[in-house]
Amino acid sequence: MGLTGIQIFKMLPKTNCGECGVPTCLAFAMNLASGKAELDLCPYVSDEAREQLSEASAPPIRPVAIGAGERAFKIGGETVMFRHEKTFYNPTGIAAMVTSDVDSGALDNKLKEWNALQYERVGLNLRPDLIALKDVSGNGSVFAAAAKKIAEESEFGLILMSENLEVIKAGVEVSAFKKPLLYAATSENANEMGNLAKEKGLPLAFRSESIEDLIELSETLTGMGLKDLVIDSGARELKKLFQDQVVIRRAPLKAGNRSLGFPTITFPCEMAGNLDMETVIASMLIAKYAGIVVLSDFNGESLFPLLVERLNIFTDPQRPMTVTQGIYEIGAPDENSPLLVTTNFSLTYFIVSGEIEGSRVPSWLLIMDTEGLSVMTAWAAGKFSGDVVGMFVKKCGIADKIAHRKIIIPGYAAAISGDMEEELPDWEVIIGPRDASLIPKFLKDMA
Ligand code: SF4
Repeated sequence: MGLTGIQIFKMLPKTNCGECGVPTCLAFAMNLASGKAELDLCPYVSDEAREQLSEASAPPIRPVAIGAGERAFKIGGETVMFRHEKTFYNPTGIAAMVTSDVDSGALDNKLKEWNALQYERVGLNLRPDLIALKDVSGNGSVFAAAAKKIAEESEFGLILMSENLEVIKAGVEVSAFKKPLLYAATSENANEMGNLAKEKGLPLAFRSESIEDLIELSETLTGMGLKDLVIDSGARELKKLFQDQVVIRRAPLKAGNRSLGFPTITFPCEMAGNLDMETVIASMLIAKYAGIVVLSDFNGESLFPLLVERLNIFTDPQRPMTVTQGIYEIGAPDENSPLLVTTNFSLTYFIVSGEIEGSRVPSWLLIMDTEGLSVMTAWAAGKFSGDVVGMFVKKCGIADKIAHRKIIIPGYAAAISGDMEEELPDWEVIIGPRDASLIPKFLKDMA
């Protein structure tokens, strides 16, 4: 069990300096106890206290890093049951499975095809993370050849799947630099797999069919000094798997049971006969509460919805997504091109910039920092008022890039035009359309 706020408070410096972001050490202690703050925020904790507090302040579900390089990622580290309570931090890893008997040419094709599945959305690159290589022949050199190809010739992270220690070792020899997840320790091989994971410093998944056995296995592995663990509850039936995911999430968060305080791995590919049904199952598991979902294949129509769902589930609901304030060029504008201004709510930016691009009228787009609020909300909150926008136009440097002095504001912000003209006496403030879909016609008519 973690320490209480008062127990933590006793170990803090009690100077109430406020550098941790709250005014008192007591408030910080309470935040630490409830998982709302991290110990590193206080620079004055003694080494001795830091050691004692590290367990209390660690996330109840351990974050586990998998992979190296471009697609390295973390799973776990969650502190709440529901994202509206705070946020979910580390997105579910999405994996596809290949079996070790895949021939080299087919694997090349798969890697090429899967690598192409990347989507730009709200300024982010959405793509899958992992390939799970499953041993089906018990042949270490065949397994190692496929592991080597995936590790060396793709950006994907790797899950090495075999319960045969020699086969797993052969895979690890050629791919350890990619920090693969080893799958799986069971009650039969826990010592050998645990030793291998420990020796190589790799994360290890463990599997058992009952929660009681999982706890026992977890205690065996953590007793060996292993920390980076991933749980497979063994369930391949939807209702049971769902229940297991909830139990495994609740145990560390609500009952302080650290034996189950690890992210999970799930296998929709072993639960359905076709990719569509796997995708439906995976969509449930992304929401509740899988660390990794393994599919039998990737294709655009199943993967893209999962990537978008994952983006939404793991976006902080209390912090709107934003784009950087600044001057954006759309379609190589020149000094006579039209100038528009809007807020830095990312959805607003992507809709407006998309419509401008669609108009084929090269334009300048000013994005003003409104802390991620949309036009109407920012205006109502006083963050997109005429004087504020006017000041921004003056300071952002756009006047040096254009020969005219006309600026188009969003139709919903028409009320700010008077104040803007007062702030920018040399400028003409033009009220643009309310609906972004009318921007192309508006720009073409102006041109
Ligand atoms: Fe106390 Fe440390 Fe926070 Fe300062 S930074 S108020 S010493 S907990």
